[in-house]
Amino acid sequence: MASKPTYRGRFAPSPTGLLHFGSLIAAVGSYLEARKHHGEWLLRMEDLDPPREMPGAASAILQTLEAFGFEWDGPVLYQSTRHAAYDAALESLKQHRWLYPCGCSRKEIADAGLTGTEGVIYPGTCRNGLAAGKTARAWRIRVEDTAISFDDAVQGHISQNLARDIGDFILKRADGLYAYQLAVVVDDAMQGITHVVRGADLLDSTPRQIHLQRLLDLPTPHYAHLPVAVNEAGEKLSKQTLATPLDLEQPAPALWQALEFLGQHPPAALRSSDTPALWAWAHRHWDMGAIPHVRQQLP
Ligand code: GLU
Repeated sequence: MASKPTYRGRFAPSPTGLLHFGSLIAAVGSYLEARKHHGEWLLRMEDLDPPREMPGAASAILQTLEAFGFEWDGPVLYQSTRHAAYDAALESLKQHRWLYPCGCSRKEIADAGLTGTEGVIYPGTCRNGLAAGKTARAWRIRVEDTAISFDDAVQGHISQNLARDIGDFILKRADGLYAYQLAVVVDDAMQGITHVVRGADLLDSTPRQIHLQRLLDLPTPHYAHLPVAVNEAGEKLSKQTLATPLDLEQPAPALWQALEFLGQHPPAALRSSDTPALWAWAHRHWDMGAIPHVRQQLP
């Protein structure tokens, strides 16, 4: 009988643009940590939101990862093929009355004036039934007024009260698209992910994901949230702030810089070497304990 791997990690880019230095950090960290544990490393394309996608980005991302020398296990999972699984999860939440239809507009919600960790908190208008005259637009999940806590391998003990900090959140949007929070939980479980290593920009999403895992009776993986690269203005390097795409012709300097960013201090001589030499060094020396315990830093 094949034994279950004790470590299975993943990298889950969204094809809304090309990979840049910020996304390389998450790829490098999740990859090296998985390999250090002799684990598997899976790729998942989070193509959930066609209007925000950039044509050709999904295949360009795979090409970039290949040019950088990443080797992933098994076929790439595309979230665009997973709608039936997301519907099944929504159905089960509906049956247990955790999920409810909401007819409120953005403006109505904003007018209630409640704010939390990520902006506006839903005031609960449709929690006990659609308000008179409203039609269902989105589907929301109930949250509870208790702390959800976990120990993050980089960021330490994290605790969040979803009712106070976030509010009932959307799992299926008014435009019919599935929310990231739902898809990520369903797919991490289906792919048997045991360890999630990703950017700390998603740290505040993790309690929502743990809430859903509990409601759907799914296991909670171990989490490690890496520092996020920001610019001088403190903005995350992202497709929105136009971070330059990675150079496929010259991967070694960016890979070297990603290792340095993650506190690994690769020898200066390797900066101008090739990626096999850098990977060989990184596999031998990777130490999660050396990663700075911060949510963000300058590259
Ligand atoms: N697709 C998400 C992103 O590109 C990452 C999701 C995750 O790692 O949970 O930001």
